[in-house]
Amino acid sequence: MNYCDLAPSYIRAIAPYQPGKPISELERELGITGIIKLASNENPLGASPAAMAAMQEAIKTIALYPDGNGFELKDALVKRYGVTHANVTLGNGSNDLLELAARAFLTPGDKVVYSAHAFAVYALATQAVGATGISVPAAPGYGHDLPAMLNAARDNKVKIVFIANPNNPTGTFLGPDELQAFLRGLPPEILVVLDEAYNEYLPEEKRYDSVSWLKEFPNLIISRTFSKAYGLAGLRVGYALAHEQVTDMMNRVRQPFNVNSIAQAAAVAALRDISFVKRTFELNRRGMLQITEGLTRLGLEYIPSFGNFVAFRIGNATAMYRRLLELGLIVRPIANYDMPDWLRVSIGLESENAKFLSALEKCINQQVNGESK
Ligand SMILES: *Cc1c(COP(=O)(O)O)cnc(C)c1O
Repeated sequence: MNYCDLAPSYIRAIAPYQPGKPISELERELGITGIIKLASNENPLGASPAAMAAMQEAIKTIALYPDGNGFELKDALVKRYGVTHANVTLGNGSNDLLELAARAFLTPGDKVVYSAHAFAVYALATQAVGATGISVPAAPGYGHDLPAMLNAARDNKVKIVFIANPNNPTGTFLGPDELQAFLRGLPPEILVVLDEAYNEYLPEEKRYDSVSWLKEFPNLIISRTFSKAYGLAGLRVGYALAHEQVTDMMNRVRQPFNVNSIAQAAAVAALRDISFVKRTFELNRRGMLQITEGLTRLGLEYIPSFGNFVAFRIGNATAMYRRLLELGLIVRPIANYDMPDWLRVSIGLESENAKFLSALEKCINQQVNGESK
């Protein structure tokens, strides 16, 4: 018998998430070292030293189960954001929170709206519970078309709308006025998951206080992560802020110990280490300039990005990706985001960015020479 047939058709239809290629895998394949990975929007500075120390300390009590309610981490978040414990859900990465929202509120046949070129997990979380995703075509410039998403949500009796701000892989940004107009136009029975994984990378003049909107919009779920600017991607910890009834439902479907004790301790320390986040932000700002100036010099189009990565258009993107791999540089193909002519590169250290740009130049020259033969 075929055991796949035991799974519901909507599970069989899922195309698994395609992660960035791990350094160790490319090392095995090519037998080389010194590989640079700019493929998963990780923090090139690593993690905050305070978080590292907190992990060392937490490992001493690893034989004990974690605090299933994550009191200390929730308390740190409550103090930072002026919410209550009843508004906080902790997740095994913010990916977990996107799934908890889907599992708590969706049933097979329910409908969900997200944008074309939006973060892949929205479609995956939707499919995994047998709900139907409606992908709304992007606005010019690859950003979310909020008016079109609003219409799609109202016309189709949608249950959840996923919004990424900034979005990955496009890096596009929605301003607070547009977002609030969208929320005001939406019936309160439609939930909005506002995924702010790259919030800490926003330039000062673009920052907005979405947490204060929770009072006006009880249907709003804000998700954030420690994976990106906080440099803790391997640890898996994120949080969602929402109305207490929404939070209650999300907490009913999570694993009782979904965030491990080391992650809880590290996140508390990371949240306090404001200067680390600031250094990260500054490094990214300079690196973004370095990479976008380099792309311009090479004559390549890119989408202006508000995250720690940038998508650029390049002919033969798949072949270019492979050639970059051979030169020890891992970037991210985004054909699965309906962007087959684009690659996404994460902002690294200055030296990594420089190596990426010179490898890219080499690939382009090879291609030009190869074609003229
Ligand atoms: C990276 C990312 C996340 C979540 O990552 P976690 O490691 O699961 O916290 C969520 N949303 C977007 C848009 C991302 O790019």
